Amino acid sequence: MKTRRSFIQQVSLTAASLPVLNILNAACMNTANNDKQILRVAIMGLGGYGTRVAEAMNDCKRAKLVGVISGTPSKIAGWQKKYSIPEKNCYNYENFDAIKHNPDIDAVYVITPNALHHDAVIRVAKAGKHVICEKPMAVNAKEAREMVDACKAGNVKLLVGYRMHFEPHTLEIIRMRNEGEFGKVLFFQGLSGFIIGDPTQWRLNKALAGGGAMMDIGIYSVNGSRYMTGEDPIWVTAQETKNNPQKFKEGVDETIQFQLGFPGGAVASCLSTYSMNNLDRFFLNGDKGFAELQPATGYGPIKGRTNKGEIDAPVVTHQTVQMDAMAGIILNNEKPVVPVDGEEAVKDLKIVDAIYEACKTGNKIELKL
Ligand code: NDP
Repeated sequence: MKTRRSFIQQVSLTAASLPVLNILNAACMNTANNDKQILRVAIMGLGGYGTRVAEAMNDCKRAKLVGVISGTPSKIAGWQKKYSIPEKNCYNYENFDAIKHNPDIDAVYVITPNALHHDAVIRVAKAGKHVICEKPMAVNAKEAREMVDACKAGNVKLLVGYRMHFEPHTLEIIRMRNEGEFGKVLFFQGLSGFIIGDPTQWRLNKALAGGGAMMDIGIYSVNGSRYMTGEDPIWVTAQETKNNPQKFKEGVDETIQFQLGFPGGAVASCLSTYSMNNLDRFFLNGDKGFAELQPATGYGPIKGRTNKGEIDAPVVTHQTVQMDAMAGIILNNEKPVVPVDGEEAVKDLKIVDAIYEACKTGNKIELKL
């Protein structure tokens, strides 16, 4: 079992192995950014999660909240006061294309309802700013691909708010798996769910959410199945159950079970639901051992154990670590252990598209990621 100290040493060594690359990239960066090591971020969508990200960014060393984009003037005023945000860095949804002319903002973090991500990301890319976009990045793979293409065309980076990709217990399991400590990976189980409240919220409105539990919480098991096994699935089967059609209308999934097959022979069995609490568990089984995360994707503390015992890894504020790491990726081309770029979201949304198709048709859907 790896100790906390050796884990931290490994992280430092990885970071230390990139200095030449960092210097080279720093030389190419936007000259308007006086402090080249700090990513200057504007948050779009000052809701529940945007607020959490902003607070976590107070402790960032490489990222700083410097701007806002919001449809609610009173929130803008409150955030300006709280985070010392100057008037010139405040935008609304009508005028934010003008961010193009603002040399003091490097990136926009899109934290609005799911179906609004697509247009917002494309507009930010056209304005020449890097984009971080919350999960699910889009409501289907086609839209996700268009977002990736727009960011390529705008020559900006596109990252997805997959905060678990930087979480130490998760990374320790990935390290152990990569070093063969669980042997040949044969099985993954992902359980993702909670009981959703207010039936009028946007998460239960197909036009804004793009779906139901699968888009919001099931995507953690979709994405987790890939980083836990280390493979991309090649087929999917899925079954939907709807007990409350009043609350979960047409196109808003309540509960979906899905199964994935991987090229190495592993299978995954996952549950996505808006109707059961206490479902946040990942389990990985190989022919030499197992790993478990429970909770696996909540805000923490994340707890993990393997056949060798408890995982001793630091407890972190996910969004602080994520934003510091994303600053390194955007400003210095640093490579995360688990990728967080838009292509990852395209893969996840191809799987989600196939899950919905499998629910509708009852067919086993072949995947080409
Ligand atoms: P909230 O409803 O709390 O906030 C969304 C914000 O988006 C609103 O406050 C509003 O901000 C803005 N907005 C713009 N247009 C609309 C609209 N038509 N309806 C409602 N809000 C609108 O949602 P969350 O913050 O919980 O979720 C936002 C995104 O973040 C989602 O994609 C979600 O999946 C993701 N998320 C990710 C989490 C993670 O752990 N990675 C956790 C929670 C959410 P304003 O008034 O400033 O315009």
